[in-house]
Amino acid sequence: MGANAALREAILSAGLTPSKLAERVEVDPKTVERWVAQGRRPHPVTRYAVAAQVGKSVADLWPDETVTLRPSRFSFAGVCIWCERAGCVSADCVVRHESSHWVTCSTCAGMPWTRRGGCGCLFGVVQSAKFASSNWETA
Ligand SMILES: [Zn+2]
Ligand SMILES: [Zn+2]
Repeated sequence: MGANAALREAILSAGLTPSKLAERVEVDPKTVERWVAQGRRPHPVTRYAVAAQVGKSVADLWPDETVTLRPSRFSFAGVCIWCERAGCVSADCVVRHESSHWVTCSTCAGMPWTRRGGCGCLFGVVQSAKFASSNWETA
């Protein structure tokens, strides 16, 4: 795998260094070096965090990625997006998550950080299912 020039450029133009980025997305600085120098891919949720930090979309940074549009089951605070419990290990939540379908948020075009006051979506995606709520009663 070759170096990821797009990522390197994005880090620099965001006024960051690999070690500052590492600090913000809570990984080892060596990990960021591997993303840049060796073209390694971050964990999917980390990709979104990196994209947010440098103000790019995931597709900009990892263009050849076959993107499965699905956010992490956990928020950055470690709370399950389905049952809203921290550190959830529920098999139900895993299944619901794995079988969920997501589309790019049309409000922010997948870039919630560009919207003042944020966006109601999850990391730039929204569920495509009609009864997308985590509350079955609304279905
Ligand atoms: Zn859960
Ligand atoms: Zn949005």
